[in-house]
Amino acid sequence: MTEMNKRTISLVSPFYNEEKGVQAFFARINEVFAELADRYDLEVIAINDGSRDSTYDELVKAKASNPYLTIVDLSRNFGKEAALSAGLDFATGDAVVPIDSDLQHPPEVILDLVRKWEDGAEVVLAKRVDRETDRPIQKVTANYFYRVHNRISDIDIPADVGDFRLMDRKVVEALKTLPESRRFMKGLFAWVGFRTATVEYKVAAREHGASSFNTWKLWNFAIEGITSFSSVPLRVWTYLGCAVSAISFLYAAYLLIKTVLFGSDLPGYASIMITVLFASGVQLIGIGVLGEYVGRIFTESKNRPVYIVRDVIK
Ligand code: UDP
Ligand code: MG
Repeated sequence: MTEMNKRTISLVSPFYNEEKGVQAFFARINEVFAELADRYDLEVIAINDGSRDSTYDELVKAKASNPYLTIVDLSRNFGKEAALSAGLDFATGDAVVPIDSDLQHPPEVILDLVRKWEDGAEVVLAKRVDRETDRPIQKVTANYFYRVHNRISDIDIPADVGDFRLMDRKVVEALKTLPESRRFMKGLFAWVGFRTATVEYKVAAREHGASSFNTWKLWNFAIEGITSFSSVPLRVWTYLGCAVSAISFLYAAYLLIKTVLFGSDLPGYASIMITVLFASGVQLIGIGVLGEYVGRIFTESKNRPVYIVRDVIK
């Protein structure tokens, strides 16, 4: 192949308060790039997601020695999903690889991803083979999340696969046509489909800084995922309503017959209380679930951009 038609591989990497890890990240990336450089042009899109430390300065410093770097500086912290969307918009490569900037996704895996892409896969998933770096509760909940999500959603999210993957240009273009502003990337990635292959890898421990996702945030993230891709939580209330009505009807019939046959007796406090409490509890939960979806309609209808860019350094 001639210089002219060398293809480009883009890495898309969100940075949020990663000042200590920036130079280490580029050192590792460069080792991998060295092995690809004869066949591919390479670029890195680093999204500074409103870091409050010196991540931005570190990125500018890294840019001096790594000209392939494009820095996209967001105007504030928009969250990882939005940062990734920004990165995909700026990436120009024939293949695009989202990769965490904290080196938990070992860059060497990119070589495996590229190999499968060369073999014809349009999406190559990096699947983690262990969850050693997770908190115990996370291991259990992650497992249940995939089970519940895939049971009730229109699309299946492959278990233990995160944002770390390779996507052909076609796939990236497809993703860019999706209009929603609340972007649950794992789900969107799965939704667009395409010919998919998988490679396995071991997640590394974080060397600097701390994870931005605590258990509460992950729980909300899971709800976000399910309400993005399933309307089953809404439909459940129809069935529950029918069931409760049917039971009430039977109970009413029983009371009526009993009163006709044996006359009325005053005691009934317990049954009334139970009915009132149960019925109002069920209604409140139902309203809550409705609210979840109305909230989604509300944010989508505002049609705000997913992120705002302060500056791009090419
Ligand atoms: N990140 C981001 N914006 C955020 C939170 C995280 O861009 O609001 C980035 C972060 O710099 C890292 C990646 O997303 O590169 C994954 O975040 P983190 O390591 O905190 O998550 P975990 O690996 O624990 O799931
Ligand atoms: Mg991490």
